[in-house]
Amino acid sequence: MKKVLITGGAGFVGSHLAERHLQMGDQVFVIDDLSTGSIENILPLKRFETFNYVIDTVTNEAQTAELLDLCDVVYHLAAAVGVKLIVESPVRTIETNIRGTEVVLDLAAKKGKRVLIASTSEVYGKREGVPFRETDDLILGATSKARWAYACSKAIDEFLALAYWKERKVPTVVVRLFNTVGPRQTGRYGMVIPSFVQQALKGQDITVYGDGSQRRCFAHVADVVEALIALAAHPDAVGQVFNVGSQEEVSIMQLAERIKAKTESKSRIVTMPYDEAYQEGFEDMLRRVPDTTKARELVGFRAKATLDEILDSVIEFERARGTKRPSVQAHGLRSTDRRPSPV
Ligand code: UDP
Repeated sequence: MKKVLITGGAGFVGSHLAERHLQMGDQVFVIDDLSTGSIENILPLKRFETFNYVIDTVTNEAQTAELLDLCDVVYHLAAAVGVKLIVESPVRTIETNIRGTEVVLDLAAKKGKRVLIASTSEVYGKREGVPFRETDDLILGATSKARWAYACSKAIDEFLALAYWKERKVPTVVVRLFNTVGPRQTGRYGMVIPSFVQQALKGQDITVYGDGSQRRCFAHVADVVEALIALAAHPDAVGQVFNVGSQEEVSIMQLAERIKAKTESKSRIVTMPYDEAYQEGFEDMLRRVPDTTKARELVGFRAKATLDEILDSVIEFERARGTKRPSVQAHGLRSTDRRPSPV
């Protein structure tokens, strides 16, 4: 039985990762401040006896140290995510992302633990040639544009992880997650698929930002979680960076049309200028496709779920969520809830 710590374990990816480890019979510890994660994501995990969680921030060093002592491996997923949140709260983004990672790596160095750092495809910035390879240059925009603070803060996290491996022999693995979707993802921070599905189910306008010609590849969270587990465990992954994502491309306009058709929605599809959707001068990426050769060759990673399957699973989840919302009070929290969920 492995003992794993997942920072940000009440988030979308973190809660799926926790669930998978619990299903594998492992002991799981989660620390999450519920700033973007949600207690609803972890309530179903309480049925496992080997599940433990603490509502706190990773920057509370004493708490994080205590948890790290109990575990063999740390998945550091606690971060500010979601383009909307990042553009609106740049201070929180930079501080959360950099300070949190410093704390985790420093403690891992003192205690000799293995760390997987979740990074993001945002670090590639405005690169144009796809697919993106791990060794490619990063092309970031001006510091006056808040979006790039996210890319930059995660790039610093990567530098830190690689430096801790080189200088202090902390076994670290960096994984750049491309667009990841699936049940439990919230649309609250701007993620496109839950946003479109919720709009379609409510009969509201489906808001395509820009002209909708920008393209993305969406991977199912279950495939991503398999990759995280395999990479965290593989001895040859240490000190390296891996892309993880799907290569099935779709334009955002096509995505809106597919969701509208699948949900048989009467919603209109409308376009909204980026300036209005985010803020003046916002820069988006036109295309984003990962080269996943490295993860495939090392751990056999493949994004198995098709976009159709992904959309079906999100639509099913959102339909069920619309009819049944678990109540936090009804379940009773057993840890110190320092910060309320920002619902
Ligand atoms: N997007 C959109 N409408 C929305 C939310 C997002 O058109 O309600 C667009 C967004 O501008 C981007 C793409 O969908 O081009 C993917 O956005 P998301 O925030 O999910 O991920 P990103 O790839 O930007 O990190």
